Amino acid sequence: MSNRISIPYNFTVGESTIIANNFSTHSDWSKTVFNSIKENIVAHLRTQQNNTCCYCKYQLGFDIKQVDIEHIIPKSEYEKFTFENRNLALSCPACNTKKSTKPVLNNPIVNYPTNGTNFKIIHAHYDDYSNHIDIINNCVFVAKSKKGSETITFCELFRLSTVEQKSKAHQTLSPNLLHQLVGELKTADPQDKKELIDIIKDAIR
Ligand SMILES: [Zn+2]
Repeated sequence: MSNRISIPYNFTVGESTIIANNFSTHSDWSKTVFNSIKENIVAHLRTQQNNTCCYCKYQLGFDIKQVDIEHIIPKSEYEKFTFENRNLALSCPACNTKKSTKPVLNNPIVNYPTNGTNFKIIHAHYDDYSNHIDIINNCVFVAKSKKGSETITFCELFRLSTVEQKSKAHQTLSPNLLHQLVGELKTADPQDKKELIDIIKDAIR
């Protein structure tokens, strides 16, 4: 399974014309004239991302409001990248909301970057997720790099251990997993450490 988008969405000539004729500011993104283009973007990226959120890796839903086209660099900050195909990825609405318009670039840019080095967070097109974050038990996010740590903070991914705990409140952790979680404590960031301790406490209570 690929951990990043290998092929960005390619706008057709017709779509490029619609964009050229109807886009001037980032708020134009919500115009209905772009609806069919967005549907095509979503369909393409679902396949590229194995139908998972680019930040939390949860499965994306198919009903309305269960998937967002995420602008990696906020369109309000760099509106010229509103329809930049390498700036688009699919996220769950929760991650999109948490990430909001926080600035993701280390340094200001003129042209869209061709690699991920200028990004504080994992870039869905340029970075291999598994190099930056390990996900344990589908809900504990352990940073393996600065980018991983920033992504966890930007999207508040620590929220998901609580979500998962609530949804699996009737289950208990297996001894093997408990052992694994305790092992993770040694190298965890302070924020992850706190989450890990909470989960372990809950499991042995
Ligand atoms: Zn998400």
